[in-house]
Amino acid sequence: MRVVAIDGPAGTGKSTVARAVAERLRLAHLDTGAMYRAVTWSVLDQGGAPEDEAAVLDALGSARFTFEDERALVDGRDITAAIRSPAVTAAVSSVSSHPKLRAELVARQRAWAQAHGGGVLEGRDIGSVVFPDAELKVFLTASPEVRAARRAAESGGPVAEVAADLARRDRADSSRAESPLQEAEGAVVLDTSDLASDEVVARVVALLDDLQGEPGELRPGDRGRARRGG
Ligand code: C5P
Repeated sequence: MRVVAIDGPAGTGKSTVARAVAERLRLAHLDTGAMYRAVTWSVLDQGGAPEDEAAVLDALGSARFTFEDERALVDGRDITAAIRSPAVTAAVSSVSSHPKLRAELVARQRAWAQAHGGGVLEGRDIGSVVFPDAELKVFLTASPEVRAARRAAESGGPVAEVAADLARRDRADSSRAESPLQEAEGAVVLDTSDLASDEVVARVVALLDDLQGEPGELRPGDRGRARRGG
């Protein structure tokens, strides 16, 4: 089973890169952030509090979540756009901090990869927890200014507000007890601040080509700004 893990904070280009790499490799793509967002949407829809673990587990257990073809469905209802709302974005770090929720979603992510014969999975803990033995683990970074500018261009929101939201989510995601956002051991770190997304895709594909040429040997620092983390 071929698995590529792409992790990193918001605004580093994960989704664009993961989708393009999946297409190049003819693998399926899973945005695991969309899973945490869909559960968050459900919690809010049921009037639950993001901090309330019982309400979060109830929301997870009482509906059928499906993630296919870049769409998120809850009991057949398309919530692809709704999970990007400011309300969901504000609550998702809190919802995703509950260990029992994470354990269940990690199990679903592994099952998804099994069912699809592998895939390109993006998130925060793919290389560290979900697939520590992935063929390639990439950790994308970018300066806070670049990340905020990218997200603001996508959402149309004011840059200062977007920057504050990113900083708050970074803090919450990096400091939680369970599977905090961090570079996985053996991950290749790519700073995307000055790179167009097709350049990042080309580097990831080149890293995979290198791995195929020399199994088990990934040379650090031989692809521009790529370096080994962990
Ligand atoms: O990737 P995205 O920004 O949509 O992720 C939304 C949130 O979901 C993150 O801020 C984080 O709290 C959570 N998340 C996570 N683990 C993942 C993916 C996302 O905790 N693997």
